[in-house]
Amino acid sequence: QAKERDGNNFQFFSSEMNIKVLERMMLENSMRKALEREDLFLLYQPQVDTRTGEITGLEALLRWRHPDMGVIVPDKFIYLAEETGLIIPIGEWVLRTACFQAKAWQQQGFPPMRMAVNLSAKQFAQKDLSGTIAAILLESGLDPDWLELEITESTIMKDPDSNTRMLQKLKDMGISLAIDDFGTGYSSLSYLKHFPINRLKIDRMFVRDIAINPDDAAIVEIIISMAHTLKLSVTAEGVETRPLMEFLASRNCVEMQGYLFSRPVTAEEITTILENGLKY
Ligand code: C2E
Ligand code: MG
Ligand code: MG
Ligand code: MG
Repeated sequence: QAKERDGNNFQFFSSEMNIKVLERMMLENSMRKALEREDLFLLYQPQVDTRTGEITGLEALLRWRHPDMGVIVPDKFIYLAEETGLIIPIGEWVLRTACFQAKAWQQQGFPPMRMAVNLSAKQFAQKDLSGTIAAILLESGLDPDWLELEITESTIMKDPDSNTRMLQKLKDMGISLAIDDFGTGYSSLSYLKHFPINRLKIDRMFVRDIAINPDDAAIVEIIISMAHTLKLSVTAEGVETRPLMEFLASRNCVEMQGYLFSRPVTAEEITTILENGLKY
């Protein structure tokens, strides 16, 4: 009887699996096509110096315009792109598109801003990452000073020693480096001191609950003062309201990013913002 039940369980499990496998294959296939057909696009979200209201940087955020499913956000497909290795050509496309766009805005006479690009763990583990980026910078004509790479704590901590060497290589090229979603990973303070990074980005989850959760408020204060002590820049993510902005500003966090200033928008909309100034 037990055997029979096991058998049934197996059948059930296996048809579930087949659907999953099929879904995956379909998604993987359409992701391949998306790259070929240029169904991927970037939105850009301003990073703001709240003392002056100036845009100091833009974060490039990937979107996929699926022929049937509409626009898909990265949390729904990046993991699969990672698993299948498609993140490598996709990531290169993102870097190239973002660098060319940044250069185009400079050539149109807008004051230079950092262009921040997210890197996934697979990309970061590539031996020739620095070569790829050097080639893209050369192609686009963008000065490396204006490129910032955002890497999560957990990506770095997958192999801290070898990743620190990669970070150093990129930094030596003149690129700046930010730790994304800071506070959610497990990097110890002693590691943090040795990472050749320029910026901490405080994760949105802590920022969101500042007003209602004293622990989160305390964590944010600690991250800001730690950044200052280590002479790192600090950016708060996910700033949605004026009281949040004011709290952060009163704690000497200068740079912020979030819906209060602007949602991620198309390059055309950024151009309009650059022409008219940011209103918030
Ligand atoms: P992230 O790098 O931490 O990016 C910030 C995310 O927070 C973005 O979500 C952005 O739209 C969202 N956000 C910004 N301000 C606010 C706010 O005030 N409130 C709320 N609720 N959300 C806000 P998005 O664009 O869906 O991207 C999600 C994640 O996907 C990113 O998190 C990043 O880890 C990853 N990602 C995005 N683009 C790329 C890419 O080109 N390559 C790789 N490898 N990962 C990417
Ligand atoms: Mg990011
Ligand atoms: Mg983040
Ligand atoms: Mg994130």
